[in-house]
Amino acid sequence: MDNRFLRCIGCGKKFPENEIIYACPKCGNLLDVILPLDEMDPKILRKAFDTRPLSVWRYKELLPRMGSRKPVSLNEGGTPLHRCSRLGERIGAKNLYIKFEGMNPTGSFKDRGMTVGVTKARDLKVKTVVCASTGNTSASLAAYSSLARLKCIVMIPSGMIALGKLSQAMMHGARVFAVKGNFDDAFDLVMKSSRELGLYVLNSVNPFRPEGQKTAAFEICDQLGCAPDSLVIPVGNGGNNAAYWKGFSEFKDLGLSRSSPRIYGIQAEGAAPIARAFAKKANKIVPVKDPNTIATAIKIGNPANWLKTINAIRSSKGTSIAVPDEEIISAQKMIAQMEGLFVEPAAAASIAGLIRLLDAGEVDKREKIVCIATGHGLKDPDAAIRVSKKPIEIEPSMKSLRAALRN
Ligand SMILES: *Cc1c(COP(=O)(O)O)cnc(C)c1O
Ligand SMILES: [Zn+2]
Repeated sequence: MDNRFLRCIGCGKKFPENEIIYACPKCGNLLDVILPLDEMDPKILRKAFDTRPLSVWRYKELLPRMGSRKPVSLNEGGTPLHRCSRLGERIGAKNLYIKFEGMNPTGSFKDRGMTVGVTKARDLKVKTVVCASTGNTSASLAAYSSLARLKCIVMIPSGMIALGKLSQAMMHGARVFAVKGNFDDAFDLVMKSSRELGLYVLNSVNPFRPEGQKTAAFEICDQLGCAPDSLVIPVGNGGNNAAYWKGFSEFKDLGLSRSSPRIYGIQAEGAAPIARAFAKKANKIVPVKDPNTIATAIKIGNPANWLKTINAIRSSKGTSIAVPDEEIISAQKMIAQMEGLFVEPAAAASIAGLIRLLDAGEVDKREKIVCIATGHGLKDPDAAIRVSKKPIEIEPSMKSLRAALRN
C-alpha cells in the first residue's frame, strides 16, 4: 500500500486513497485520510507554506494528492481572525477571537471542504455529485461543481432551509430536490442514490472534505503564532470539529505548533445528541427524532460523524454542551452589535456556548479562545428579521422624523 491511504476509524482497516468509499465494509465506520507525517520535514513545509498566501491550498503538501490537475478553487480560506475585545470584556474573556468563516466564497466554511472534494471528484472522473444539506453544503457544492463542469444534485429538507442558501443552489444551476422529511431523511436518500445510481457523495462522510476543512486549524495557528487554548465550535453533523482536531493534531505532530486546543462542541438544545452523550458520559449517541432549532445549519438529529466527533472532543480534553435558541439569538445580536460581524444563528451558537463555559468555569477568562463563526448572517435573512426591531414608517418630513426620534 502507498504511504497515503484511507483508514477505518473503527477497525483500522486500510484502503487505497483513490478508492471511492465512504464507510468500512467490515464494520460500517467512517474513514480518515492518513498522511506519512514522519516522512515530512517540518522546516521544508514551513518554508513552502510561507511562500503562499493564507488559504486552503497554502497547505497543499498536507492535502490529498490530485494528480496533475489544478485545484477547482474560488480562493477559499484565508478568512479573518478578529480580536474581539469588546465582546470579550462583556462576557468575561480576555483573549477572545472569532474566526469568521462566513467570509469564504459562498459564505460558509463548507467551501474549504468542497475545493478539495470537488477537485478529487474530477480527479476520480466522476460525472455527477450529490449531497444532502441543511443549506450551506448545497450552496457550496453547487458553486464548485459549476466551476468544475460536474452535474450536481442536492437534496434539501422541504420547506426548512434558509432562503439565502436555497437561492445559491438554484442560481448555480444544481438540480434541487426538496425531500419531504428532515435532513436525516434526505441524507439517507443520498446514500441510497450513491449505492444504486453511482452518484459521488460530497457530504462530510466523504473522506476528502474534512481534509480541506482542517486547513482552518492551520490558519489559526499561523494567524495567532500558536494554537489557542480553547476552540469553541458549533456541531451539527459533526464533521467540522473533527476536521479541526485533525488539523491541530497534524500541526503538533509535525512540530509546527507546540500544543493543541481543547475543543468545545456546541449544539442547539433541540438537536443535541452529541451534547447529551457527553452529559451521560456515554460512548454512543441516541439520535433525536424531530430536531428543532432556529439554527438550521445544525438542526441534525442523527449526525453521521458522531464517532469522529466524540473521539475528537475526548482526545482534546474538551466537552460538548447544548444551548437554547434564546441564547443563540442573543449571542447573534451581541456579535453583530458589538463587533460588527453578521453571522448566521448556527455560527452564533459558538459564542452562546462560550458564555456558558465561562460561567461554569470550564474555560478560564485568561485563555486564548477562538470561536468559529461558521457561516454568514446574510444566509438567513428571515431569522435575522424575525428577531430584530422592525423599521419605523415615517412621512418624508422633518416633523415626522423628529416625532419618531422622540419615541
Ligand atoms: C455545516 C454547518 C455547521 C455544522 O458543521 P458540521 O460539520 O455538520 O458539524 C455549522 N454551522 C454552519 C453555518 C454550517 O454551515
Ligand atoms: Zn472498519
